[in-house]
Amino acid sequence: MLAVSLVPLKTRVTADDVPLYGYSADSSRSERQWEEKMRAIPDPKNLRAYMERLSARPHNVGSPYDKDNAEGILAKFKEFGLDAQIETFTVLFPTPKERLVELVEGGPHFIAKLQEPPVPGDPTSNQTAEQLPTYNAYSIDGDVTAPLVYVNYGVPEDYEVLERRGISVKGAIVIARYGRSWRGIKPLVGAEHGAIGCIIYSDPRDDGYSGGAVFPKGPWRPPEGVQRGSVQDSTVFMGDPLTPGIGATADAKRVPLKDAQTLTKIPVLPISYADAQPLLAAIGGPVAPPEWRGGLPITYRLGPGPAKVHLKMFSNWDMKPLYDVIAKIPGSTYPDEWVIRGNHHDAWVNGAEDPVSGMVTVLEEARSMGELVKQGWKPKRTIIYCAWDGEEPGLLGSTEWVETHVDELRKHAVMYVNSDTNSRGFLDVEGSHTLEHFINGVERDIQDPETKLSVWKRAQLKQIADASSAEERRELRDREDMRLDMLGGGSDHAPFINFAGIASLGIGFEGEDHGGIYHSIYDDFYWYTHFSDYDFTYGRALAQTGGTAIMRMADADVLPFQFANFADDVKMYVREVEKFAGQQRDEIQERNSKIQEGVYSASADPRETWVTPQKEEIPPHLNFAPLDNAVEDLTRSSAEYQKALERLNANGGAALASASMQEVNELLIQSERKLTTPEGLPGRFWYKHQLYAPGAYTGYAAKAIPAVRENLEQKRWKEAEQAASRVAQVLENETALINSATAKLSAMAK
Ligand SMILES: [Zn+2]
Repeated sequence: MLAVSLVPLKTRVTADDVPLYGYSADSSRSERQWEEKMRAIPDPKNLRAYMERLSARPHNVGSPYDKDNAEGILAKFKEFGLDAQIETFTVLFPTPKERLVELVEGGPHFIAKLQEPPVPGDPTSNQTAEQLPTYNAYSIDGDVTAPLVYVNYGVPEDYEVLERRGISVKGAIVIARYGRSWRGIKPLVGAEHGAIGCIIYSDPRDDGYSGGAVFPKGPWRPPEGVQRGSVQDSTVFMGDPLTPGIGATADAKRVPLKDAQTLTKIPVLPISYADAQPLLAAIGGPVAPPEWRGGLPITYRLGPGPAKVHLKMFSNWDMKPLYDVIAKIPGSTYPDEWVIRGNHHDAWVNGAEDPVSGMVTVLEEARSMGELVKQGWKPKRTIIYCAWDGEEPGLLGSTEWVETHVDELRKHAVMYVNSDTNSRGFLDVEGSHTLEHFINGVERDIQDPETKLSVWKRAQLKQIADASSAEERRELRDREDMRLDMLGGGSDHAPFINFAGIASLGIGFEGEDHGGIYHSIYDDFYWYTHFSDYDFTYGRALAQTGGTAIMRMADADVLPFQFANFADDVKMYVREVEKFAGQQRDEIQERNSKIQEGVYSASADPRETWVTPQKEEIPPHLNFAPLDNAVEDLTRSSAEYQKALERLNANGGAALASASMQEVNELLIQSERKLTTPEGLPGRFWYKHQLYAPGAYTGYAAKAIPAVRENLEQKRWKEAEQAASRVAQVLENETALINSATAKLSAMAK
């Protein structure tokens, strides 16, 4: 270990001479030394041992081993010297009581197995007594029999294709493949179009044999592997369905089960491709378009029928305990400013990749920090390490914790850093753009285990390789920092950023290990240690990344938020949304012309059914001027803030470390909160952040300026324009906050 710390990574010749952003020269020197010590501590052997322990048995919400793991993590945090405790909540968590998928007409009678077989040589795949059956949690109960329609990925565009072919899903059961959207979107959109049941299957084209050898020979999904997962409707809020917007504490006021808003409208079950093949083969009707065809050796057809399916799904609607493990290192100078790090510990089954590969890095980070504290390191701010329960069913553990503590968090939380899974490859970072410059700096100080480049350099080169235009490549080469992607849904950062307005980051390595074990019994220690980061060197790199980010935020003199990049990113998002409005006009105009000219009827084969779309009203030109003006103000004041900070930075920046900086920091802590509104997005009260949200019809993927974007997508022009002025106001509030911070900095320079 000593050898590692004696050879510090140097990515830039002058790296050590330029003070870290937000640090005086003295503070920066000391910080760099502590960070280097920290980065030498994480040990792959420990990561492997934690993973073996945490993934030894199935540990879904409410299972004995879920509690056992929480207690094991608690013991570890305490052993590392952190002040730790378990916080408990009580949530609705349904588990299957009765499941049936049966082909009753249109082909040979067939009953789906709905069972993943143990695999010889994989020692945990045979723990059948403790494995949750394959199902989609929060499907409503139902028993339906109806003709089957194949809907591809089951996203809104797929239904437009069906409409063109004159196919309705009214009264039908839809079968959709996994992918393209969050799974909960599929029953949601199906039900909106009149379907009465939904089957979701894993197509081998997407994560089975089309990719390579299947498990246990290779990493890909075997024929009977099934993806479990939640289908809770997350459009309006996340977390426990019975306590929207408030913590699910023992005495919380709960909505009665019959009024729970986020359960699906129709019954849903996931199946394997072995179970899906006889169903799909029995579907008749038009042949599916080329992009809709998967990897099964059949002709994919749309239906409806003659395949008729009997689908039955009933759950035990039980309340289950959640065990969040929360550990603290108190801050020495600013104990009321909190820097938070987390990962979930619950899984659908053994979950070696999801979530344990991420959780173990958080544990090893906590151990490293504990070591530094023993050596005399005193973080300026309070550091909080969290291991969440109940992420898989709907971000339950993190959401209920954030909702319970939201008033304190809005006052004290500086930043939240999330991870979930980890594998080999390229560092993927998503997050708040006020942290873009900060996290780029961290990435430059972490070494990639395979290429020995910095993870920043490797990610930049990879993005140049993947860029689709000369413009994109030019920006990647010339811009000082790489742009951050937005955070979407799908992990524990969501309550922090979307609900509480806390600047957040999501980090993890990915891109080189592929496979098809997600949410199946095969996501286990055997799989991970054969097909993913089996020497845990990327686990170590992630612990170094997360640890460096947490330390650098916790110790900074001035909180290292940076608004110049932020303004540049917001400008880009505003341009995109304006461009989108223009494209929509053009598309509607073009379609109307084609209808007028008879293009649709002339190009359709009269022996087949083709439906000509209806003419649509051409959208009005919308007024986005308030947004454009707000972006200009934001850009100007961000530049002034930067200048004021640089003036203080002159001559070693001793002023940065002065006590009056606390007032500036108190403002900076609120900078992300300013981007929220109390009422949230239209019809989505829980999503308070006005710049980012998971799309109502994408689920995982984020939408920028969602109130404007989604109104445009829904063709509500007037509402889109009103939303644009609301977002403009939010940006003006942010500008005002930055201006006050600048004024304080300038006063200190005098
Ligand atoms: Zn996960």
